Amino acid sequence: MSEKSKGQLLQEELAYKKKNYFEAAGKDERDAMFIYAEGYKQFLDEAKTEREACAAAVARAEKCGFTEYHFGDRLQTGDKKYFVNRGKSVVVFRVGSKNLEQDGFRLIASHIDAPRIDIKQNPLYEDSGMAFLKTHYYGGIKKYQWTAIPLALHGVVVLKDGSKVTLRVGEDAGDPVFYINDLLPHLGGEQMNGKAANLIEGEQLNVLVGGLPYADQEAGEKIKLNVLSILHEKYGVTEEDFLSAELSAVPAYGARDVGFDRALIGAYGHDDRVCAYPALTAVLESASEHTVLAMLVDKEEIGSEGTTGIQSKVYEDLMEEICIARGANFRKVRANSKCLSSDVTAAYDPNFPGVYEKMNAAMLSCGTAMCKFTGARGKSGSNDANAEFVGEVRKMFADGGVFWQTAELGKVDVGGGGTVAKFVANLNIDTVDLGVPVISMHAPWEVISKADLYSNYKAFLAFMK
Ligand code: MN
Ligand code: MN
Repeated sequence: MSEKSKGQLLQEELAYKKKNYFEAAGKDERDAMFIYAEGYKQFLDEAKTEREACAAAVARAEKCGFTEYHFGDRLQTGDKKYFVNRGKSVVVFRVGSKNLEQDGFRLIASHIDAPRIDIKQNPLYEDSGMAFLKTHYYGGIKKYQWTAIPLALHGVVVLKDGSKVTLRVGEDAGDPVFYINDLLPHLGGEQMNGKAANLIEGEQLNVLVGGLPYADQEAGEKIKLNVLSILHEKYGVTEEDFLSAELSAVPAYGARDVGFDRALIGAYGHDDRVCAYPALTAVLESASEHTVLAMLVDKEEIGSEGTTGIQSKVYEDLMEEICIARGANFRKVRANSKCLSSDVTAAYDPNFPGVYEKMNAAMLSCGTAMCKFTGARGKSGSNDANAEFVGEVRKMFADGGVFWQTAELGKVDVGGGGTVAKFVANLNIDTVDLGVPVISMHAPWEVISKADLYSNYKAFLAFMK
């Protein structure tokens, strides 16, 4: 090999260039990426709703010796705890040995809800030989993507007597699945000439759930009746019980490797389980001297509102309770806390180059991506972390050997998005966004790189160290 020129050497020293993590990693590290991905795929298949993600997180925490925490409980150094909020969000935390007032919390905040099709409160009807459930979609979706694919029904029904029935139909090989009809191309001329946003209207997202009439000549609406009779026999549910149900149609597909080389993972709900799972596993495995918390929250996709969204006082209360139990002043603790708001970003897609600014877009397999700011049109609605904190995190990653990149969601003025970052930052906690680049975000099946997943996990370990 010929010697490098002076200019080449100077370039290496002074210029910044993103690199492919697969390429930069040694064999052991690459093997570790693929092994880590297996656990993640399992988590994805268990956790298609926030309730299921919460339960899957608790199961993993308990396996690692974590026990449930309630407000008012005593806390000692080394305690490994989880706090469940209404079965829909969970905070897994470990009490560190460092002085809490001086050191603060190390928080990782990610969300476990994902875009999907929610069933309405009075949903069931029959028409033209078919029974359907009326729906109202949850989160930002391209509605046409949810037609003509196999769907599973997940959720809970609270019965008249207050008891709760859990449903999960369409995931096991022997289960039936559900479906949203689309128009055949032969008759779709007018539909295809319309705007994509209206190819399927919200009120056309009706989930097909039956076609067999109840065997009784006298009864009316026999197909609907037959569905009701099956629901009653299997779950003790009557039509009125839908009034207090929370049921969601989600893609019935499981997580799969994508590509001949298996470099990528396709799955429903990478946003944001691809951050929630590494946050969880990092806290479970961490032996940090800091007090570390992985917050897996709900409702991010619809604005982080409500009792289970990050804006709920419950998370602030929990942090304050931890402070009280440790004899620390919450205000001082907050001021010294640091948070990674961990949510996905858009991976640069060469099939749609027009919406990205290539220099600042997240490139697939170049590591987990830090977004100093999110928002839209003049950074509006963004946390916009200060350079000092970004520098601090950058140093943590350098010390921890983390492979990472920076990112902006898309071209200026093309669109944008928000995360939970600003809500945490509003508590006077330094916060910056960090997460995995995703291809086809919010589609029923999204794609991520195993390198970026692993990089995210390593970043969390370094952040908590
Ligand atoms: Mn997200
Ligand atoms: Mn999202």
